[in-house]
Amino acid sequence: MNEHDSEKIAGLLEQKGFTQSKIDDSDLVIINTCSIRKKAEDKFYSQVGRFASLKKRNPYLKIGVVGCVAQQEGSNILKRYGHVDFVLGTMQLNRLLKHDPFYIKDAHIEYSNNIEEINFVKRKSSVKALVNIMFGCNNFCSYCVVPYTRGPEKSRGMKNILEEITDLAEKGYKEVMLLGQNVNSYKSGDNDFVDLLKEINNINGIERIRFMTSHPKDLSDRLINSFGELNKLCEHIHLPLQSGSSRILKLMNRCYNYQDYLNLISRLRSKVPDIAITTDIITGFPYETEEDHKDTLKALQEIEFDGIFSFKYSKRPGTKASSFDNQVEEDVKERRLSEINNLQDTITDKKNEYIKGRKVEVLIDDISDKKDFDFIGRTRTNKIVYLKSNNKLKIGDIVSVIIKNPKRHNLEGEI
Ligand code: SF4
Repeated sequence: MNEHDSEKIAGLLEQKGFTQSKIDDSDLVIINTCSIRKKAEDKFYSQVGRFASLKKRNPYLKIGVVGCVAQQEGSNILKRYGHVDFVLGTMQLNRLLKHDPFYIKDAHIEYSNNIEEINFVKRKSSVKALVNIMFGCNNFCSYCVVPYTRGPEKSRGMKNILEEITDLAEKGYKEVMLLGQNVNSYKSGDNDFVDLLKEINNINGIERIRFMTSHPKDLSDRLINSFGELNKLCEHIHLPLQSGSSRILKLMNRCYNYQDYLNLISRLRSKVPDIAITTDIITGFPYETEEDHKDTLKALQEIEFDGIFSFKYSKRPGTKASSFDNQVEEDVKERRLSEINNLQDTITDKKNEYIKGRKVEVLIDDISDKKDFDFIGRTRTNKIVYLKSNNKLKIGDIVSVIIKNPKRHNLEGEI
């Protein structure tokens, strides 16, 4: 979501006649922030302080702060950092187009009931596109700041989404990643998320559809059945588990228990046996005991995810869990996180080894940064593949690749 916001900021500024330059040569610097974890927020604070020296060298320089920390802190940022000129909240990016960015002042963080449609996007990739389908979230998981920084859930109109994707297909894009905090609750008139997927599946030129993220409590049978039925829907789902302990899931306000989650996994795998499943895990949530932690390790063994994003719990301002009494000690969180990661590493190795010698479909999306390989691409199951092709191929090609050498974080293969 944040990465795509950066693409929009770049697109809006380009439209106003700006060009991208090195930070030391720039007259306008915009810091796009994330506050999902304390670590991301701390990164912003350490960076913004350093930017004061840029202003001493260039008195014309303007500095703006946007994104979730901007929404969360508003004018406090201006009070604390005199060298910051303006702050724009998460639904205020269009101000960069409507006004001259050199004259924007103060903090603008008010929510609007309307979706902010942004028509100028400078995309990083020429074959894979990020597309917002909804914004915000109503779920209020007890650890999460998103409902406060991104506001209540709003779906983009289906017509606008389909127009954007048709335009992307005409420009040669092959893959779309549909973005929303909880895509399963997408609604546009009488149409739901599966209706949207069906329509996108009919767009000529688009070969792959992905989405992120699904909330397990809302993963419908209709959506599960779409895997394998919609030929462009890739066989990968990111389904955040967060904890293997039903007691902790309840404290997290996740509205499902571990058994509910397991049932979803078995339904998905009965529909598409080799579907790749990835997840998020938070360790050291308040009140998490050794027993709860062991439940999470047991869940990893039982489910065998293709990959996980694992994090130590950190308090987020205004969230329910930040006021919970029984916070877990930092060293305990560290140890639990490394146990989780070590276990998952062995599982990832085993899952990747299974692909050795198999033929997979790869969409080439970049030039290789690894010696002896020409290109990088992704399988439909979202695994990174380095491949040799003797430069006969180009970015955007979809090819069959035999996996010769599976590694932990990527696979090496040949055409
Ligand atoms: S579903 Fe929960 S974790 Fe995801 S964005 Fe909403 S509140 Fe945050």
